[in-house]
Amino acid sequence: MSHDTGEDTGDGKLDVAMISLCGCWGCTLSFLDIDERILGLLTRITIHRSSLTDIKRITKRCAIGFIEGGVANEDNIETLRHFRDNCDVLISVGACAVWGGVPAMRNVFELTDCLAEAYLNSPTAVPGAAPVIPCHPDIPRLTTKVHPCHEVVEMDYFIPGCPPDADAIFAVLDDLIEGRPVALPRSLIHYD
Ligand code: SF4
Repeated sequence: MSHDTGEDTGDGKLDVAMISLCGCWGCTLSFLDIDERILGLLTRITIHRSSLTDIKRITKRCAIGFIEGGVANEDNIETLRHFRDNCDVLISVGACAVWGGVPAMRNVFELTDCLAEAYLNSPTAVPGAAPVIPCHPDIPRLTTKVHPCHEVVEMDYFIPGCPPDADAIFAVLDDLIEGRPVALPRSLIHYD
């Protein structure tokens, strides 16, 4: 399957945006495990919004959006939709983005029970303090269930694994950057 990753930015490079939604940053660390090959990648891509650049919001159209983590709150939904609107190609990277992953384990319980377990009945509650479930306009509202990204917007590619191998991430990025059909070797695909 191939996708048009859009125009380069005038310097021959493609803009890539990266985000962690409800994830643990392990998939982003796996990207860094590409090691010295990153130097070659950076001659062909510019990393725009990401935790690596500390750019907080996409301000220009990007060729590739790298999404770690599933959707667990309303801020995740807004962020993912903004990526979909502003990236030519979106990749679900890792188990959380692909199917919800570890955070989706809460889906077998009611959200109210999860909040009570975490904040009201927690063994780590501060002794003597009145237990309270945090609630503030700045805290994103949790969704009732944790969703994989493709249940919120259309995703173009999926790289499973918790986290995926750096070689798998590199293979997909390299195919996209070079304009080849993405062909992730079976030997690089794992689900754990
Ligand atoms: S897939 Fe695994 S490594 Fe990646 S964000 Fe989820 S828990 Fe972390």
